[in-house]
Amino acid sequence: MLNVLLLGPQGAGKGTQGKLISGENGIPHIATGDILRAAMAAGTELGRKVKPIYDAGGLVPDDIMIELIRERLCADDAANGFVLDGFPRTAVQAEALDEMLDEIGRPLSVVLEFQLPEEVSIERLTLRAQEEGRADDTPESIRNRLRLYHEQTEPLIEHYRARGNLVGVPANRPIEEVFEEIQRALEQVAVRR
Ligand code: ADP
Repeated sequence: MLNVLLLGPQGAGKGTQGKLISGENGIPHIATGDILRAAMAAGTELGRKVKPIYDAGGLVPDDIMIELIRERLCADDAANGFVLDGFPRTAVQAEALDEMLDEIGRPLSVVLEFQLPEEVSIERLTLRAQEEGRADDTPESIRNRLRLYHEQTEPLIEHYRARGNLVGVPANRPIEEVFEEIQRALEQVAVRR
């Protein structure tokens, strides 16, 4: 079982690496942003509810996100593990995740902390805005998301460091190099178990 959590600022490449980890290890990439975008595209009740928050770069309420993740982690395809990307983003979400993983007896194998200078983050998001035209890649929304990352999500790094399963990943490098380093870290985890 390989339970991987990805932490790090916007634009650090969590989505890209999450998909690679998923493919290589046969575990699903559970990305909250992707789940929300799918809900909005499908026009579900969840999608309609989160759209204004998402577009402004705000945080969807904790209770909604926690229920979403609780259900997703219990799905059959996550039985052998998962790559969780975009959750937790707040202390309340982190506590809820600890609790639910405890309940189902599935501790995190490793927490990968993607490290990227803020100016590179902004550069990458600006480029992505031009290329993909994501609704939340406007300058204002990008500022908001980075601010919320620093205020609410960055402190979670210490939460996981204290538990001893945090691995730093310098993310300002080519995709293949970052992925190689991640795979090495995941092999270490496998050896330790
Ligand atoms: P990024 O990390 O580049 O901001 P994501 O695709 O991970 O992009 O998330 C996009 C948006 O989805 C966030 O700005 C937020 O509105 C919402 N979202 C995703 N995950 C969460 C979460 N765990 N808690 C609250 N809101 C979330």
